[in-house]
Order: sequence, then structure tokens, then C-alpha cells
Amino acid sequence: MSRPILAVVHPRALAHNLAQVSKHVASEKARAAVHVWAVVKANGYGHGLDAAVRGFAAADGLALLEVPEAVRCRELGWQRPILLLEGFFKPGDIDVLARYHISTVVHSHAQLAMLEAASAHAPIAAHVMLNSGMHRLGFQPGEYAAAFARAQALLAAGKLSVVGKMTHFARADDDLAVTRAQLDCFARVTAGLPGPVSVCNSAAVLSPGLVAAVPGDEQWVRPGICLYGASPYVGRDATALNLRPAMTLHSEIISTHVLPAGEAIGYGYAFRTDHDMRVGIVACGYADGYPRHAITGTPVTVAGVRTRLVGRVSMDMLSVDLDPVPLADIGSRVILWGEGGPSVDEISWSSSTIANDLLAGLTHRVPRRVDVAD
Ligand SMILES: *Cc1c(COP(=O)(O)O)cnc(C)c1O
Repeated sequence: MSRPILAVVHPRALAHNLAQVSKHVASEKARAAVHVWAVVKANGYGHGLDAAVRGFAAADGLALLEVPEAVRCRELGWQRPILLLEGFFKPGDIDVLARYHISTVVHSHAQLAMLEAASAHAPIAAHVMLNSGMHRLGFQPGEYAAAFARAQALLAAGKLSVVGKMTHFARADDDLAVTRAQLDCFARVTAGLPGPVSVCNSAAVLSPGLVAAVPGDEQWVRPGICLYGASPYVGRDATALNLRPAMTLHSEIISTHVLPAGEAIGYGYAFRTDHDMRVGIVACGYADGYPRHAITGTPVTVAGVRTRLVGRVSMDMLSVDLDPVPLADIGSRVILWGEGGPSVDEISWSSSTIANDLLAGLTHRVPRRVDVAD
């Protein structure tokens, strides 16, 4: 018998969430058509690239980071655009991009120089990134026009097929004023420059008014986390946004104990019983990707009943309070997050992180299975 932990991925939930985002974007009544890049980086936020490509069949494009992963999307049959969010890394990547029709972000002078030095290749779509204040990737406002002009020269030379404009928000999840300031910077710097624009991540896409405020005749949004059924906002559950969890993390109870009051549980004796208490041991730990910093009280569902984590999460196991679930025993089904259990958002709030971290952090030790009912 294999260890009972399993992540079930629901492609139908991926498709539902994409439809919700598209519906929301349409309701924004932006001045131009809005297209969706479904972000599938980090192995589809941990869901598996195959399932993501299948679930997002209705998306206008896919966005990710690694060149081999982009090629894999082509091999899986994806025919629409694919965008490399950090762009390419080495001159040798350029031929692969041209051969597989992979679009690229251009955020540095080094990338422009590599394109200028490349020998003839099929033209590539490029999106020139502005650093509008996040200070991660992109050209500074003062150098953007010159970088854009170099890209347009590459367009005229037949090395590029499209030159777009993009930027990324630092605080779309929690500070609308900062986000508006970044958008103002983008609008000012790119005013009068032709080409498609791409600005909004999940938090911006779902913030009323932001998609409509983006300038330009052709807009591409870049939602990631919300497509997987998790919330981009702390304290606001994804169900309130009509999103469905696309991953359910299951395991089972593999041991139970009845402990008298005053006994301690697990490493560091971080939890002590204050009454006679029954606890269950679950085959799931931080080496599976469950957060080690989840606190006592973090919700977990055992045999369909919501109960709580107790004590410290160890590498391969965690402990749960079985008092609310007297019928639970060895083999009882445990849902750590997802359909029928707590949301991955709740687990992230109980462990001082975000759902992206938990989903993308699920380790190779956990087998993924695509939901056959889907
Ligand atoms: C990851 C990423 C996104 C998607 O972000 P979410 O917050 O998951 O929606 C969008 N754009 C860029 C450049 C990214 O790196």
C-alpha cells in the first residue's frame, strides 16, 4: 500500500475559474478587448502543467517562466500565444523562441543586445517591461522610450513580430493608491507608443475599476492564483469571489491515541492536552509541502468533520484533535485543503504565508491525480 497522501486536481474548477475571471473582465467594460494570459508558472501553481493546459483551454494565452516548460505546452498541443514572464536568459534561447512561437518579456538592455546580435530567425513577439515602482524587473521610466525604440527597430528589421508594453503591480492586493500611482506612471511613460498592453495580475484583475483604467487599444491581463481557486487578498476567501478550489490535498489517519490531560504532543512538546483527549496522526508533513509554521487551531477536515491541527507539524506527519470526530479511526479520510475541507486560503492565513506558496510548494513526494469525474 502506498502512503495515503494524494493531491487531486480538478480541471473543471480551473475552467470555471477562468470563466469567472473572463466574466468579471467583460463586466469591467474596458475601452478595448481584453485577452487573458492564464499564468501557469511553477508547474501550474503546483497543479501540473498538463492539467493546467487542459483546464485553461479557453484562455487566449499561457504565461510562464522556463523555456523547456513553454516547449512542453507546445508539445501538449497548445497553439495560442505563450509568454515568458522573465523573458529569455541566454542567446541560445532565441532560436527556441522563434521555432516554437514563444513570446517574451524584454526587461533589460542585455536582452535587447542579445536580440540585436542574433542571426536571422523567425520573428518573435516581445513585451517591453516598465519598472513602474516595484523595482524588480523592467526599464526605468526615464530609459523606457529608448528601450522601446530599440525594440521597434528590431520589429522593422523583422526580428520581432509584435512590440508590446507591460508592467507589474507590487501592491494590487492591499493598496489601491500605490497601484493607481504605478498605473499612472505606466500611462504617462507609454503614452503614444503603439502595441498591446499587459498590466494586471489576479489582485488587479479582480479589483473593480482597474482593468477599465488601463490605457491602450489591446489589453492582456495576467491572472494566476485566482485561476486555481485561491484568493489574492488576505482575509477574503475565494468562495466570496465565486472561485472553486482546483486542488484537494487528501491523506488519512494512520494512528490514534487517547491522551490524559497534561500530555504533550510532537516535537518541542508544542501542544499540551488540558483534558482527556483523542488525537489522530495524519500522513502529511512539511516534506509534502504542508506549512511547518501552521499554528495549533489550523482547520483540517477528518471524516467530513472540521477539526483542528494540534502541535508542531513535523516532516512527515501532523496531529489533529479527534474529539469532534469520535467515529474517526485509522484509515479515516483527511482533507488538508480543497473541496470538502478548509480552503488553501485559510491554511495560508494560519501559517503566515499566501496560497501561492502552499500550492506551488507541494513537493514531488505527493502524487497528483487528475479528477476523473472532471
Ligand atoms: C506570477 C505573475 C503573475 C500572476 O500573479 P498572481 O498574483 O498569481 O495573479 C502575473 N504577472 C507576472 C509578471 C507574474 O510574475
